[in-house]
Amino acid sequence: MAKHYDLIVIGGGSGGLSVAERAAGYGARCALIEAGRLGGTCVNAGCVPKKVMWYAAHLAHALDDAPGYGFRLDYFGFDWQKLKTARDGYVRDINEWYLGYLADAGVELIRGFARFVDAHTLEVGGEHLSADHIVVATGGRPRIPNLPGAEFGITSDGFFELSACPPRVAIVGSGYIAVELAGMLQTLGAEVTLLVRKDQVLRPFDATIREQLMERLREDGITVLTRTQVRAVARLASGPLSLHCDGQVSVLQVDTLLWAIGRVPNTDALDLATAGVTLNPDGSIPTDPYQNTDVPGVYAIGDVTERFHLTPVAIAAGRRLADRLFGQQPERRLPYENIPSVVFSHPPIGVIGLTEEEARQRHGDAVKIYQTRFRPMYHTFTARPTHTVMKLVCVGPEEKIVGCHLIGEGVDEILQGFAVAIRMGATKRDFDDTVAIHPTSAEELVTMR
Ligand SMILES: Cc1cc2nc3c(=O)[nH]c(=O)nc-3n(C[C@H](O)[C@H](O)[C@H](O)COP(=O)(O)OP(=O)(O)OC[C@H]3O[C@@H](n4cnc5c(N)ncnc54)[C@H](O)[C@@H]3O)c2cc1C
Repeated sequence: MAKHYDLIVIGGGSGGLSVAERAAGYGARCALIEAGRLGGTCVNAGCVPKKVMWYAAHLAHALDDAPGYGFRLDYFGFDWQKLKTARDGYVRDINEWYLGYLADAGVELIRGFARFVDAHTLEVGGEHLSADHIVVATGGRPRIPNLPGAEFGITSDGFFELSACPPRVAIVGSGYIAVELAGMLQTLGAEVTLLVRKDQVLRPFDATIREQLMERLREDGITVLTRTQVRAVARLASGPLSLHCDGQVSVLQVDTLLWAIGRVPNTDALDLATAGVTLNPDGSIPTDPYQNTDVPGVYAIGDVTERFHLTPVAIAAGRRLADRLFGQQPERRLPYENIPSVVFSHPPIGVIGLTEEEARQRHGDAVKIYQTRFRPMYHTFTARPTHTVMKLVCVGPEEKIVGCHLIGEGVDEILQGFAVAIRMGATKRDFDDTVAIHPTSAEELVTMR
């Protein structure tokens, strides 16, 4: 007979760990099934190791800036392998920490790959397990295109396995992972070419931010080829890769090719059809605002769904689902508006709410924009011409702030507090009435005219 639980979670990433821990806290009998390493994408091949690399690139910029502040430095280069060893150790510590996290919460960890047998039963390693509630939190994996020689390329997963900085890298893609990895590799010593299918990177972002970032990428030495697509890849006898392209170049030779063209939801091997769960055409799981699938008792959270693919979103959706199912909060759910997010480019980008284009489509002439572009004081003494750009999108006579778009040093840390204010319904007047902190870049947000 199948072992029975109140809740089984498939996937021990950001979303799965959170829903299981919260549900167990309410006294639910929980199991979590994980096929790989605890912590999922964020810990093992996403946010965490990426931020370590971003810090390294940030330091490299600081070293370049230091002479402007009077420092005379002897620079002996960058030891990629040394950083990788330390980074991998840090990630392993987090994997271990999650073992304690689950044990302390009273969640049973089952190692293996889960498949549905029916809506309330799973099979793992030949054993059947059943539950009143099953949460699918299986995340996604990098997409590799279907073209000749595509297998010669790596993805963001492969980036974290590199033991040295490749001399020449082509990155294909225009999303946040593409621009983040391009910035890090270029700063840490690679010669980077970014191949973009359309005219711009970060297409869903506000146009002002996109344009500013394109300018920065080029000023940092990254070659951005727009309207350019790879058609085939071949490995040359001498070692490098030859990319055959349509667009601004026809042939490009590089040492490493990195695909950053999106992610595929991990649903193909789950046998969800046997449970009766319908999928979107792209393989993601459609859910209602309460994370319900179309089969009662089966839920989906995080990257396997079609909504915002961010760690804190998966965590928040998971915790709220547990509150609803086991914490007697029947209306608890994650509203998917005003979700702040950051792109760890150089400099970083922070955004929340509507872009100017979206606001004008929804609210027409009722939209008022406040915008500023300035050279932050820090860069007065550096050789880098980096500017900060800030935009507030306001609506109506009360000038309610419905969007905030920032690019510049420190905006990754600035945005969180402003996100609280915007979520609470702040108006431009509220910003104006807030006393500035001087001298900072953040003060520009409360002094815009
Ligand atoms: C390069 C990169 C950088 C990123 N940077 C950021 C960032 O800076 N900030 C941010 O907020 N987000 C970032 N993200 C996104 C973030 O990592 C994801 O949104 C988050 O990890 C999603 O969590 P999840 O629980 O939905 O899925 P995941 O974390 O992917 O976890 C899914 C888990 O399910 C397991 N699994 C899959 N199928 C099965 C099965 N059948 N049986 C058992 N186990 C299974 C997998 O092994 C995996 O551990 C980044 C992602 C990438 C790739």
